[in-house]
Amino acid sequence: MDKLGENLDRFRRSCKAKGFRLTPQRIAIYEALLACEHHPGAEDISRAVRTIYPDISMDTVYRTLNTFSKIGLIHPVDGHGRPRRYDPIVEPHHHFRCKQCDRIIDFYDERLNRVSPPDYILQKFTVSTVKVTLEGVCDQCSQPRKSTRAAEL
Ligand SMILES: [Zn+2]
Ligand SMILES: [Zn+2]
Repeated sequence: MDKLGENLDRFRRSCKAKGFRLTPQRIAIYEALLACEHHPGAEDISRAVRTIYPDISMDTVYRTLNTFSKIGLIHPVDGHGRPRRYDPIVEPHHHFRCKQCDRIIDFYDERLNRVSPPDYILQKFTVSTVKVTLEGVCDQCSQPRKSTRAAEL
């Protein structure tokens, strides 16, 4: 089974386990999430879903994304306010965010999992997650004139 099939399969099983009804729209929203690269926002997702279900409302898309988050099917990407972005990959991984085109690229490096908070933090707070996000300029944006997305910003 390919990655997409695997993800869809897990999606179906989780929905069933959580008693969340699988409607064609919900499946379309999840598929759009998987298909949009670089962690789409709700607008990107609704644009993609509207090619199949032109009448789907923004509200439905938001509500569905919230439910997906609640049942742990997707993660909102933290760390920058503007339209919230969503991540269909729930396994631990790291992000590189391009400050010019706003793409968020997944990567994984074992060493980053070993970053530990300073003692004075650990004495006061209970730390449950350490997230490492790298920011900078991506390969596409650092090639002058080749990137159209950078020019839009
Ligand atoms: Zn970029
Ligand atoms: Zn990610």
